[in-house]
Amino acid sequence: MSQNGSNSKEDLGDCQFVIWIANSGLGNRMITITSAFVYALLTDRILLLDHSGTDVNGLYCEPFPGTSWLLPENYDYNWINDMTWENKHKLGLYLQENGTANVTIPNPIPNNYIFINLMHDYDDYDKRFFCNRIQKQVRNVPILYWRSNNYAVPGLHFDHEFHRELDLMFPERDTMFHHMIRYLFRPSNVMWGPILRFRQPYLRSAHRQVGLQLRILESNVSASVVADQLLACVLEKSLLPKQMKTAPEDTLHNSRQGTTAVVVASLDMVYYEKLRNYYLDFPAEGDDYIAVHSPSKEEYQQYGFDHDKKAWADIYLLSLSDELVTSPWSTFGYVAHGLAGKTPWMLTKTPSGELALETFQAQGHCNRGVSLEPCFHAPPELDCEGHGIGQDPKTILPFIRPCEDVVGGVKIM
Ligand code: GDP
Repeated sequence: MSQNGSNSKEDLGDCQFVIWIANSGLGNRMITITSAFVYALLTDRILLLDHSGTDVNGLYCEPFPGTSWLLPENYDYNWINDMTWENKHKLGLYLQENGTANVTIPNPIPNNYIFINLMHDYDDYDKRFFCNRIQKQVRNVPILYWRSNNYAVPGLHFDHEFHRELDLMFPERDTMFHHMIRYLFRPSNVMWGPILRFRQPYLRSAHRQVGLQLRILESNVSASVVADQLLACVLEKSLLPKQMKTAPEDTLHNSRQGTTAVVVASLDMVYYEKLRNYYLDFPAEGDDYIAVHSPSKEEYQQYGFDHDKKAWADIYLLSLSDELVTSPWSTFGYVAHGLAGKTPWMLTKTPSGELALETFQAQGHCNRGVSLEPCFHAPPELDCEGHGIGQDPKTILPFIRPCEDVVGGVKIM
């Protein structure tokens, strides 16, 4: 494959590729690699990963024995950085140039590649990627560059041919992400050390583990309100026991035998401290001691191998839980529950200010998710004929329903 985008058919041979371009945090990267892989399976393409500035090669094992899913080291990564909105090889721009009524791409395609833009703010032309008539044209384009921060698999069902194939591959539709993410992502050798050094001393002897993942993505929500919400959630749903303020204190000779371990993963320590103090201040109902742990203490989102290592270890440790509570909107949480194979309890989106009490009374502090699958945050209003009137993504297929956490998002049930 040439490095500067001028790929000749002779260079490429019979192979066709999807080249995934790295973007956003670890959770986003894992859901988009998974989406690109499913697309590659459906279209007989080879998936290759851009690993410039990311740690794909350090954090995960290679999933396919005897070969590599990484682009070669000497690839021209600067050139990949041009895959942005303005790139003239963007699918949406080709469709736009050719007019709304005539939804076609040039044939043959210049330089044998197209840039597929599936970022959350992609336009109506880019969204036609999910139309069968566009897929038929894209089928013969040797290289597709894939930049996304979306879990796009629900949208692939909108193409009836993909839908048929997907149903054959994954008869239980809502376990697809779980199977794919477990297949693709295994901690690398350098990751097992930090994972084991936390798991063995802190978690292994507990007979039950509860994972709590806290991530606030809105600027107007206070962490202390979410900390109260979290505690109310785990008590309301009986995920953890209540304090017994009037009970006798525990003594050295009491009858408690076991431990329930709680893993709190968050950038902010306030949640860990809230839970830990709650169980240190008074004895808990039941027969267990409640041990609250936080594997990392990052404070704010940081980049680079050492930080990604901690994030991956946190996700993996969460995924070993018997029960999980995750945060709305967060792909970090989606990956943890996908790996765990557990439908999570999802915190209700926290309203700002005084509305909180009313909202929690009406909706609960958290609720069981509708399925194990991640939410497709920005699904297309499907307009395959280019009439400018799109179809509501919630009404296209009966098993694609609104997400519990993102207004306008859809997920597979
Ligand atoms: P999202 O933003 O919640 O959808 O998840 P991403 O994983 O895509 O991006 C968030 C990034 O922030 C992660 O990759 C981490 O670098 C960091 N981060 C967020 N929450 C945590 C956490 O609980 N633990 C650690 N170690 N890092 C976190």
